[in-house]
Amino acid sequence: MEKISADALPLTINSSEKQETVCIFGTGDFGRSLGLKMLQCGYTIVFGTRNPQMSSLLPNGAEVLSHSEAAQKSSIIIIAIHREHYDFLTELTEVLKGKILVDISNNLKINQYPESNAEYLAQLVPGSHVVKAFNTISAWALQSGALDANRQVFVCGNDSKAKQRVMDIVRSLGLTPLDKGSLMAASEIENYPLQLFPMWRVPLYLSAVLCVFFFCYCVIRDVIYPYIYEKKDETFRMAISIPNRICPIAALTLLALVYLPGVIAAILQLYRGTKYRRFPDWLDRWMLCRKQLGLVALGFAFLHVLFTLVIPIRYYVRWRLRNMTITQVTTNKDNPFSTSTAWLNDSYLALGILGFSLFVLLGITSLPSVSNIVNWREFRFVQSKLGYLTLILCTAHTLVYGGKRFLSPSILRWYLPSAYVLALIIPCTVLVLKFILIMPCIDKTLTRIRQGWERNSKISKSALNGKTDI
Ligand code: NAP
Repeated sequence: MEKISADALPLTINSSEKQETVCIFGTGDFGRSLGLKMLQCGYTIVFGTRNPQMSSLLPNGAEVLSHSEAAQKSSIIIIAIHREHYDFLTELTEVLKGKILVDISNNLKINQYPESNAEYLAQLVPGSHVVKAFNTISAWALQSGALDANRQVFVCGNDSKAKQRVMDIVRSLGLTPLDKGSLMAASEIENYPLQLFPMWRVPLYLSAVLCVFFFCYCVIRDVIYPYIYEKKDETFRMAISIPNRICPIAALTLLALVYLPGVIAAILQLYRGTKYRRFPDWLDRWMLCRKQLGLVALGFAFLHVLFTLVIPIRYYVRWRLRNMTITQVTTNKDNPFSTSTAWLNDSYLALGILGFSLFVLLGITSLPSVSNIVNWREFRFVQSKLGYLTLILCTAHTLVYGGKRFLSPSILRWYLPSAYVLALIIPCTVLVLKFILIMPCIDKTLTRIRQGWERNSKISKSALNGKTDI
């Protein structure tokens, strides 16, 4: 019986070692795909299966044996079997002693078992070196050459040489290994493939709530109200006019919500007089999804631009223009040019264009390929300073859009103001609070707190009193 201790294992694979034999237990989808990929990369593959005679679907060139026979052929065994069927491995404890067992399994639910599958495998086969890997790569991605899927393979294990050996195999298959440390990280790695856009959930729910709320709000004001009071059918507004009102409102509100948690965090730190107390969980979670909030906001801003571009070709707009012209001609009435209206209109458009350009810049710098090449100060400058400038420009764009009508009682319908007035509440609150926070007297205290000063600590009090014995 072959026993290979981890100490005797080579650290890297050179060209001659590439022909080494790797054993794969399980001839299912993943076992077959990985086997084929490894054969193409020059490995000799031995499958361990319950039915060595039924090998028609397996890649050409692979040997098919029973589990025990296959295990004896290699020092590294990839377990391409679901955790529920691991029990039979206990019978092979002797054969598997000192060998590297690669656990690739996933579960159906997050934290399905008390221990990770890899830790469970290590308990079942105590003398082996278990390494977790490959579980985030799908059989399909292996077959398609991993060209259009995630290439990252998270690897963890308690034996560093065994882990290194698996990482070399990962590299030789054209994938990127990421060392996640000891086997304790296996639970986290096993949960990765089960997560469904975890950071996007809150921004998407929030957007859905905002869209539904403002859609109903606008339908009440712009469709139901004219129907009841003027018997006018304005339902066509639900196709473009109302969405073009919802998109900028959602964009501005979500952009403001990117900066609101930072403001709340600063207020909390000032109130507590320390930065060493944890923020509430909801604030932590909110801060973690700021990038996604910003990207969803940018998506709405893009939609607003597209909806705005089609305005001149809309039937309703062309019909109104034609009618106004005809009315002017027939009544022989001139519509005098208003410089103040022209100013308001041009300023509104200019602010929108500038705000949108900066918004796009913020989105671009949040891409990993861009954020990786700027340093922390540059990143902060763009995301914080330019971010606030974007918020100011977009808020000003909305304020100027309201222009002279802003807060005029004539725009109220059933006591409801225009939707854009509601859209200004959160951005204006954030900007006012930020303005207060950057006032020198407050900013100085906040900066000290962020540098570690504590209002109620003995250390800071004695330091203030000029005492050196703290
Ligand atoms: P599968 O197609 O169902 O294959 C599982 C294999 O396990 C079977 O072909 C069988 O091989 C073996 N098996 C079944 N019952 C057994 C038992 N009672 N005792 C011993 N062996 C048994 O599953 P799969 O999709 O290849 O997945 C295999 C593992 O890879 C799972 O843990 C899965 O979570 C993981 N994984 C899969 C993918 C994927 O894209 N499919 C991606 C990442 C991770 P024999 O008939 O040859 O014995």
